[in-house]
Amino acid sequence: MSLIEKTAGELIELQSSGDATAEAIADSFLASIRVQDPKVQAFLHVDEAAVREQARAVDVKRKTGQKLGALAGVPVAIKDVLCTKGVPTTCSSKMLQNFVPPYDAHVIEKLKAADAVLIGKTNMDEFAMGSSTENSAYFTTRNPWDLERIPGGSSGGSAAAVAACFAPVSLGTDTGGSIRQPASLCGIVGMKPTYGRVSRYGLIAFASSLDQVGPFTHDMYDQALMMEVIAGHDGRDSTSVDRSVPAYTKSLDIPIKPLTIGVAKEYFGGGLDSEVEASIRTALKEYEKLGATVKEVSLPHSKYAIAVYYLVATAEASSNLARYDGMHYGHRAKGKLDLISMYSRTRAEGFGQEVQRRIMLGTYALSSGYKDAYYLKALKVRRLIKNDFDQAFSECDVILGPTAPTAAFKIGEKSSDPLAMYLSDIFTISCNLAGIAGISIPCGFTKTGLPIGLQIQAPPFEEEKMLRVAKMFENATDWHTKRAKVG
Ligand code: GLN
Repeated sequence: MSLIEKTAGELIELQSSGDATAEAIADSFLASIRVQDPKVQAFLHVDEAAVREQARAVDVKRKTGQKLGALAGVPVAIKDVLCTKGVPTTCSSKMLQNFVPPYDAHVIEKLKAADAVLIGKTNMDEFAMGSSTENSAYFTTRNPWDLERIPGGSSGGSAAAVAACFAPVSLGTDTGGSIRQPASLCGIVGMKPTYGRVSRYGLIAFASSLDQVGPFTHDMYDQALMMEVIAGHDGRDSTSVDRSVPAYTKSLDIPIKPLTIGVAKEYFGGGLDSEVEASIRTALKEYEKLGATVKEVSLPHSKYAIAVYYLVATAEASSNLARYDGMHYGHRAKGKLDLISMYSRTRAEGFGQEVQRRIMLGTYALSSGYKDAYYLKALKVRRLIKNDFDQAFSECDVILGPTAPTAAFKIGEKSSDPLAMYLSDIFTISCNLAGIAGISIPCGFTKTGLPIGLQIQAPPFEEEKMLRVAKMFENATDWHTKRAKVG
């Protein structure tokens, strides 16, 4: 196995045993990006010299006997929605084309303190709105397993970067599935932590009551490792929860016994692809072999999740994106214009079609006369969705099901039909609405070789249990060892 196919855990061992330097590791990944990324297009920004400099600094620290962080010399790719000091951060939008943040997001500070090597900024759907990365203002990222297909979204670049071996791990954000769905479609692991587990400071807001940062990795050990680094309290995010961070890597290999797995009957209705369903059912059998009890549970309000999400998320987006007015930073329309024309020209030029659609939907849902009928009603149903999960988790440890209704679809297949695109989030958005934890892990392939993901959802702050349940499956299967061969 070449260096680029290794996990972060393996790369850390290779460095401590003296079998690889951080610089050699960085060079291998940079070479892989140089050769393959023109095909995949996962990255918006890679500064090779800066990457090598970070890697060399780690090697010097090691040589001089200084204490090294938990991710020393591990290249990490970063979704371009996270602020990186002195490094362009565009949200894949024309609006922020020239934006260079003067500060680091909390998670970036944490990665730097852990001696990680930031390898580049990855492509995404503009302002994280989308499920395919086709809404990027710059280009569409391709799925490393089939370049004709989408990698999922909105964190498609970060998922493709790990799947294509451009970095062993990466960060994404998940508002309605944007980590789990691309992880599923790219055959890797992706977690949305509990709301409040990871600080949102420096994450450019889409829908603040739903957004969470989380890792993409090849395996569960790396998930545990990344979470130990990025999770934890931060006073700069008022929704960050002050709870200690468990030593996820330490407990990972202890199986959960007894284990009761909930299967929501609503998840196996129409719209679920038969090959995906077959893989999920096989995974459930695997858990039964491992001693788990599988129990049917019900999430009766999940049928409203898409409607609720597209009201709550658009309402919050319309408010969050009001700041892009051409005055403070970002794009500003040229010419001598009065104030109102300058605002509207700036926003018409700077935002793409999907972002404009969401702002209009959200503004409408919040407008006087409609707010009670749409936004407030959606908040009430959101509570019912959360109550369903509380009820279900009183009967089981975790809930298992598909992450996405289908494997990766073709580029262009759904881009002209927003509703069809929104439906690809059907299994992931209720997790965000309820604020619970969710993870997608690889569990098989379609006949044509496209990856399929299994979703595990756990009660708030039970990431430790969720990781252990996932690790039981990983120990019994070899899906996590497969690597895409970029065509
Ligand atoms: N696909 C969903 C949307 O378009 C989720 C996006 C996300 O999680 N950022 O809003």
